[in-house]
Amino acid sequence: MYKNLINGEWLEGHSVSRNINPSDTRDLIGEYAQADAAQADLAITAATAAFPAWSLSTPQQRFDILDAVGTEILARRAELGDLLAREEGKTLPEAIGEVVRAGNIFKFFAGEALRPGGESLPSVRPGVGVEVTREAIGVVGLITPWNFPIAIPAWKIAPALAWGNTVVFKPADLVPGSAWALAEILSRAGLPAGVFNLVMGRGSVVGERLLHDPRVAAVSFTGSVATGQKVAAACVSRMAKFQLEMGGKNPMIVLDDADLGVAVNAAVNSGFFSTGQRCTASSRLIVTDGIHDRFIAAMVEKMKALKIDDARKAGTDIGPVVDASQLGQDVDYIGIAKAEGGTLAQGGERIETNADGAPGFYLTPALITGTTPEMRINREEVFGPVVSVIRARDYEHALALANDTPFGLAAGIATTSLKHATHFKRHSQAGMVMVNLPTAGVDYHVPFGGRKGSSYGPREQGRHAAEFYTTVKTAYTQA
Ligand code: NAD
Repeated sequence: MYKNLINGEWLEGHSVSRNINPSDTRDLIGEYAQADAAQADLAITAATAAFPAWSLSTPQQRFDILDAVGTEILARRAELGDLLAREEGKTLPEAIGEVVRAGNIFKFFAGEALRPGGESLPSVRPGVGVEVTREAIGVVGLITPWNFPIAIPAWKIAPALAWGNTVVFKPADLVPGSAWALAEILSRAGLPAGVFNLVMGRGSVVGERLLHDPRVAAVSFTGSVATGQKVAAACVSRMAKFQLEMGGKNPMIVLDDADLGVAVNAAVNSGFFSTGQRCTASSRLIVTDGIHDRFIAAMVEKMKALKIDDARKAGTDIGPVVDASQLGQDVDYIGIAKAEGGTLAQGGERIETNADGAPGFYLTPALITGTTPEMRINREEVFGPVVSVIRARDYEHALALANDTPFGLAAGIATTSLKHATHFKRHSQAGMVMVNLPTAGVDYHVPFGGRKGSSYGPREQGRHAAEFYTTVKTAYTQA
């Protein structure tokens, strides 16, 4: 049984969760401890006690630890990638890529620990100096979703520790394996007891505890809008700092002048890879009249060639959906889209077993054409391999359709027109904009986040992460 890490000790939980392989539901990956509220409390107590000393640790100490964690993650990329693909269902190359990203993130924030920066300015008053510095904020609660089981924990844990905070980390119930492996690496990296705590357990129990405990100075959350709203309400009620990264309904515009191959590759990649389970997935394709039919025909051809199979098998393009409940949601949305007048142009078939006869949560990627902006398929996040197509008259119409959404995470455009690409970068209402690239797939050293209903609070990743994980102090000195 895989245990929780609280105050430097591995503790059994009060119940157990079974981690099942979605590519082969007969395969039990392991049993993971589930903490109760009292254990979450113990972790918060440990992190609170560890904070004063850790917040004053030297940049060199923090660099050495984070750098060592990054080195070990990168060295074990094949093994950790295999575990990730086994528990989440993304393909092995995608899973290894995610592990590499996690390793690189630890290396990046190791460097940031050495570069805290700060300003020294003359005061407006004679003989007075002003210093502006950043300090750690305290105990941070980190709550993560299931779709990036190691990269999202890494992009919260690494900056939190780099800038001197202590951590209580609650991973998603569905994918505790990668989180546990990361915690195990951190447990041997030289952190003082209580600086980093892993508390696996239910959101309604462990997660809620983090939201309401006054000793938790800040909460960084990635997940659904519904849970994000609970995080926001709880944190506002006690004036805690919080940051939310939530859903998307990301548009990708394809203009008449697009390179057809580039557009199709970007749309198939960002719509269906990782089984469409990426917050930055292009789930709405907005295609202008002149290229519409050619584009759909090419998409269908490309989709027919995709191999849907066990996530860890060589040659698999698309692995299974993560679990039965998400699969049910994907299938339901395909039905809703058809009932509202959309046409299922390709895919959307449930496959009970893979090529080797193993039972899993397989679904062929679905393309739904002839949809209109007000349909639910174009307004609500599905979070699966389900992509809808809306026709547009021209660029201006396409831009208006792209921005007509309550979300604003990522947006893309496929075009050879510098004029339209430049205009789109400025006028898209999304936090991240891609030209001739998939909307999913981002760098680790630059800000990540969105606008409108997709995000709240400062950006994650890159140097901008300091905005959330530190607080600014202005000091005045009369010489
Ligand atoms: P979720 O909201 O169900 O769960 C996210 C986390 O919150 C889990 O750890 C869960 O246990 C916890 N939680 C649940 N109820 C809670 C409560 N009452 N209090 C505190 N914590 C609670 O989301 P999910 O299904 O795991 O993930 C899918 C969602 O995540 C999608 O909407 C997707 O778009 C989003 N996502 C967003 C980003 C981004 O950066 N914008 C990245 C990845 C995923």
